[in-house]
Amino acid sequence: MVDYRVEELLSQIAEAKRRLGDELVILAHHYQRDEIVDQAHFRGDSLELSRRAAQANARYIVFCGVHFMAETAAILARPGQRVLIPREDAGCYLAHSVDSIQLRDAWERLGQMMDVDWEVLPVTYVNSSAEVKAFVGERGGACCTSSSAEQVLRWALERRPRVMFLPDQHLGRNTARRLGIPQEEIAVWDPHQLPDDLTSFRRARLILWRGACNVHVRFLPEDVERVRKQHPGVRVVVHPECREEVVKLADEVGSTSYIIRVVTESPPGTAWAVGTEQRLVARLAKENPDKTVFSLADPPPYCSYMSLTRLSDLARVLSGLLRGEEPGLVEVPEEIAAPAREALARMLEAAG
Ligand code: SF4
Repeated sequence: MVDYRVEELLSQIAEAKRRLGDELVILAHHYQRDEIVDQAHFRGDSLELSRRAAQANARYIVFCGVHFMAETAAILARPGQRVLIPREDAGCYLAHSVDSIQLRDAWERLGQMMDVDWEVLPVTYVNSSAEVKAFVGERGGACCTSSSAEQVLRWALERRPRVMFLPDQHLGRNTARRLGIPQEEIAVWDPHQLPDDLTSFRRARLILWRGACNVHVRFLPEDVERVRKQHPGVRVVVHPECREEVVKLADEVGSTSYIIRVVTESPPGTAWAVGTEQRLVARLAKENPDKTVFSLADPPPYCSYMSLTRLSDLARVLSGLLRGEEPGLVEVPEEIAAPAREALARMLEAAG
């Protein structure tokens, strides 16, 4: 049976793409629904899409992803470019785990026992709000992605005695392990349970913010043990937002792009248990029919924020553009965008 509603939405989208031509670029994150990825000019992880957005000549950048990604695209956009998000309510559990008020409070408390601006350099994962990036940029710190975390953390530790890593404690801990930073030199800052005694932070080289992605923390060491028993010879690849106990047991760890590359380039007949968001895992399985690809967890975890965007949302934004409107426009005031841009530029400098 033909779904007339879907047909109608697809033809609205096609018509808008045709009429807007080079004025429009549609970007979709790998965790988006298939029907959205199919409509995009480019798909990628957050860093690839930010780069695409920055290089695009299009006037309208429609970002099918979550809000912090569209904000980053707006920060990097050239004058006159407009960034729109089809679902303004598409947040990110991880990005919500820190805000600039909590951060200022942490800075003030740490400032009671150390010269915080001289001793601590903040580094934030790109999965954070523009305000958090601006806070970091104002203090000389940098952003990082999952693929550049190691280089950025090394860069930061060369510049100050301590680094505060925001907001993903697991990415921070996994990166620290790769750099050989011992446990005794790591302290965790929990914004919901502030410590009475701050002396552990004086000893720490790395202060981890207690945030996490609610999708990637769902993978457990038991899952690795189970898939190894059920599928002898299986390779386990996980994202570094997973818990350290899971990363330690995996065969490979890396960013979304790394996961795609390692699975795609593996020989036919290889079996992969993948520890990341399920829409990407399902697409990898479909695009690699000569391999066995499945989620490390059962049931597999989805990102509910990434799932929000549907064809009707994309069609609404594109039809609005044709009427001269700008639905879902994402704007970052210049007083926030400027220091946030500095933090992003330092990431590129640190990552070489
Ligand atoms: S998968 Fe995790 S980090 Fe990525 S958008 Fe969803 S909640 Fe945020």
